Amino acid sequence: MQIKNSALSLIIDASDQKELEELKLQFLGRSGKLTLTVKEIVKVPIEKRPEVGQLANEVKKVIEESIENKLSTFNFQLSTRRKESIDTTAHGIKPDIGHLHPMTQVLYEIVDIFKGIGFQAADGPEIETDHYNFEILNIPKDHPARDTQQTLYLDTQNSKVTPGEVILRTQTSSMQGRVMEKVKPPLRVIVPGKNFRYEQVDASHGFEFWQVEGFMVDENVRLTDLFGTVDYVLRKLMGDDVKLKFATTNFPFVEPGVDTYISCTVCKGRGCSFCKLSGWSEIMPAGMIHPNVLKAVGYDSQKVSGFAFAIGLSRLVNLRYQMDDLRLLTNPDMRIMEQF
Ligand SMILES: [Zn+2]
Repeated sequence: MQIKNSALSLIIDASDQKELEELKLQFLGRSGKLTLTVKEIVKVPIEKRPEVGQLANEVKKVIEESIENKLSTFNFQLSTRRKESIDTTAHGIKPDIGHLHPMTQVLYEIVDIFKGIGFQAADGPEIETDHYNFEILNIPKDHPARDTQQTLYLDTQNSKVTPGEVILRTQTSSMQGRVMEKVKPPLRVIVPGKNFRYEQVDASHGFEFWQVEGFMVDENVRLTDLFGTVDYVLRKLMGDDVKLKFATTNFPFVEPGVDTYISCTVCKGRGCSFCKLSGWSEIMPAGMIHPNVLKAVGYDSQKVSGFAFAIGLSRLVNLRYQMDDLRLLTNPDMRIMEQF
């Protein structure tokens, strides 16, 4: 009994498998305490031997069982610990770090390029008046050019504003009047900003689109200054091998008016849905500022002249990265933006 009690208390206190194995040897081994005791059975009177023998067997069984039990708790602890353990040799997980949207990246680049040739950047309201968006730009109320600018009008029912006077600007050109009214020539300004039109959305059109407006007014500004500026900026942005094409066109606020086309990078000029199979993408309406606009802002149109342009920023970003759909730029799927 003494052996059993001391063995059990030692087994309970055992702290690992090795200790248990030593205990097993200490009590049940060939020269273990219990084994030796059993060997001394010869000293016991014959009639008592079966009783002592049975007791010894029971003690042996109890010790073996408690060793087994203790061993299983060790194994259990070991397996749970393995599950919860931290593998300090495993590779770390790289945390996701955000970056600027490709539109912002290109916009910053454009602003830098223009700053390098003496332009200043200005900002203006997206909710605009009919006056600055149309009237001052030589587009009076009855002008057919208004039909081409699918205008979104603000609901002014419960205000003192005349209906139709407040709109979402359809072009960043609205800033020409706002700036020129305040600043005397010479001036060189760019206005990056968002515009809104009631447009059918497709691969190359959106109801919300970015433009970088630019205008320069000084004495003796000529059409060739416009061509030179546009050529310099687009080559800086798109690379030297980019092909440009200028075509005459008509906008009420410029005379003459010019449309700038860039060779389609999506199809390398072969023709695709993005460039409407022409191989060219219209990137920038431009022209010499109409004398009526110069007069409307209080300039002497006999003394000064100027050019203006509006870079279609969303389309330019598409062309730069050979993306065949404008809508990809606002797609919330992070796998698209992660590529930039
Ligand atoms: Zn194309």
